[in-house]
Amino acid sequence: MNSVSRKAAKHSSVEAQRRLAYFSERRDEIVSTIRELVEIESPSDNKAAVDRIAEVVAHKFSQLGGETRIHQARDFGNHLQIDFDFAGKSAAKPVLLLGHYDTVYPLGTLATMPCRVVGNKLTGPGVLDMKSGIALVLHALAALQDWHKQDLHKEAWHGGLPRPVTVLLVSDEEVGSDSSREITESLAKKAAAVLVIEPSYGLQGAVKTARKGVGEYLVKVTGKASHAGLDFQKGVNAILELARQIEKISSFTDLKKGLTVNVGIASGGSRTNVVPAEAAAQVDVRIARIKDAAGIDKKMRSLRPFNRKCKIEVTGEINRPPMERTAGVAALYAQASAVARELGWKLGEAAVGGGSDGNFTASMGIPTLDGRGAVGEGAHAPHEHILISELPRRAALLAGMIERA
Ligand SMILES: [Zn+2]
Repeated sequence: MNSVSRKAAKHSSVEAQRRLAYFSERRDEIVSTIRELVEIESPSDNKAAVDRIAEVVAHKFSQLGGETRIHQARDFGNHLQIDFDFAGKSAAKPVLLLGHYDTVYPLGTLATMPCRVVGNKLTGPGVLDMKSGIALVLHALAALQDWHKQDLHKEAWHGGLPRPVTVLLVSDEEVGSDSSREITESLAKKAAAVLVIEPSYGLQGAVKTARKGVGEYLVKVTGKASHAGLDFQKGVNAILELARQIEKISSFTDLKKGLTVNVGIASGGSRTNVVPAEAAAQVDVRIARIKDAAGIDKKMRSLRPFNRKCKIEVTGEINRPPMERTAGVAALYAQASAVARELGWKLGEAAVGGGSDGNFTASMGIPTLDGRGAVGEGAHAPHEHILISELPRRAALLAGMIERA
């Protein structure tokens, strides 16, 4: 390193420490924003509840000067888009900050799982996945506006931000994103990069640079009912057939390829003294590479009955493509690592089995970095929590990435 770049590096790390201190001073404010959001329960299947949080969040973003737009959804809660680009004449592409405000918890969960501070932890339904992510976006944007005040007279003025920013918060991520997928894809198409504010991975706060694709299948077997005592031989046992199919389906798993097939639910029969006419299995399929999608889909669809007197019907598909670690994803991770380094820590990366809306944007070829939200544990579980001490760092990293991505 020559003396000029050494000087520049020193300057950027001084600046990074100043930013970290800025968020540390505001840590309690961040916590109280998160609390406010967690205390508005918003299960995916309750439109009224999800619409309510959409309005609260929209109000907060409009206070920052964002132009909010509600995308009405009929069967799910409304989706919320916020744009920070008033002049509309900038050639710079926006960065898309992508998240969701629905949770997996039914109304009333707060009674048994209250939002509270326990030592360094903040608990509550959806606190990690991902209401804290929404709060981090709000605080990172507010900070950027604060820091860039002196640029007020510059031509490109995006609501006080150094570049155009679009935020999309959807209402149905936890149930497959059927209603929001089109909006996500159309905004991603216009974006320079996508930062997904889902929780980070593990207690070291790694970002997610690869996610598996997900498919769901239903395998229905029809046999023939009969009295198990009087007419045993006239019956065709659908459960027995399904059992054989389950063995076969499970053998499709190929761990080397990161391809897994899990029969998660099986059902069938009516009474012990009846030869069962019906049985069914629900199957979860995960793929690490998009090129494996067609093959496993074909295998599932080609299931044929072992007992020819049975009928098999297979429905379903791969509905989330995998997020693969493309060159664009790797470059975004390198940028995030550089910001983290200035802040004084080493940012890890992880490949995970679960899908998110980042799968859609990454598979379109838009550089996507996931896991940009809070650090914690227990997503979707009774012990869900975030680590309060990590909030300033996460906010500083997010702000830095909004500037540079
Ligand atoms: Zn989530």
